[in-house]
Amino acid sequence: MIIICKAGATENDVRAVVAKIEKAALRPHVSRGAERTVIGVIGDERRIRREAFLLMPGVENVIPVLKPYKLASREFHPTGTVVKVGEVEIGGKDVIIIAGPCSVESAGQIESAAASVRASGASLLRGGAFKPRTSPYAFQGLGEEGLKLLAAAREKTGLGIVTEVLESADVPVVAEYADMLQVGARNMHNTHLLRALARSGKPVLLKRNFSATMTEFLMSAEYLLSGGNPGVVLCERGIRTFVEYTRNTLDLNVVPAVKAASHLPIVVDPSHGTGRQDLVLPMSRAAIAAGADGLIVEVHPKPAEAFSDGEQSLTPAAFNDLMTEIGKVAGAVNRSIIQR
Ligand code: PEP
Ligand code: MN
Repeated sequence: MIIICKAGATENDVRAVVAKIEKAALRPHVSRGAERTVIGVIGDERRIRREAFLLMPGVENVIPVLKPYKLASREFHPTGTVVKVGEVEIGGKDVIIIAGPCSVESAGQIESAAASVRASGASLLRGGAFKPRTSPYAFQGLGEEGLKLLAAAREKTGLGIVTEVLESADVPVVAEYADMLQVGARNMHNTHLLRALARSGKPVLLKRNFSATMTEFLMSAEYLLSGGNPGVVLCERGIRTFVEYTRNTLDLNVVPAVKAASHLPIVVDPSHGTGRQDLVLPMSRAAIAAGADGLIVEVHPKPAEAFSDGEQSLTPAAFNDLMTEIGKVAGAVNRSIIQR
């Protein structure tokens, strides 16, 4: 349940509510807004009675939260959360762009990709060092060597690094190099990995599994939040449907639906969402119009030679055009694209 305090509630009123929650061996979650404080109750609510809180001084109302996610819900945290990745803020007024190749392939490739996306105005650099490939015979990524190349690219460009971590045993090494840890679509349900990431001390980009409902998506976020990591950014990357002309179906409905249900920022991946280079720009425009807080876009210096996902990767020139075009849409919805 959530306890909504009156506009004039004092610090002592809030403290008394918190103490009563803790006395019942439940966890309070206090969210202080500009006007009023909202206190969420986490744990087995059968231990407390709604009426006992309703009569306390400073309490305006007590509302049950029927959704299974609590910390991820907008009821618990009415204002939108801003997640900081270094100096970059995700979930604020403006839209941020994460760009780079699907995989880190070589020093020359990642340096060139980083320099071009930086020049076009991207805020963060993406690149996979540990790759979750469908085939065991496909390129699996450079591993720690790839992380070192990403760190070198950060040195040169100043761009923070977003990279995937495949398993919980790898969390410490990936967290050592990366600024933001990516959970891939295939791992969204991996609760062991989510628990390890909750303790990593780094913000997490949580990609939606291709068959996950919105509730399942937010429950995975709940693992991160309840494990002590407030830095969660959601990512819609396309779901499986019957269509055959795209790799996935980009579910842009989920953007405003998540915004209504949750305070967490959400970015959109039009590259995996379509699997087609020619659809990346129109779906990027659509994502921003729908209210996305950012995009994650695959860009490769030579898409035809990419070790993975070349068919959906933009050339540096096409990415530069995309940055210009999406600026117009951002302006139309009263936002702008943050240019580093
Ligand atoms: C990726 O970002 O390169 C990737 C593997 O994405 P997803 O987990 O969404 O398939
Ligand atoms: Mn990819």
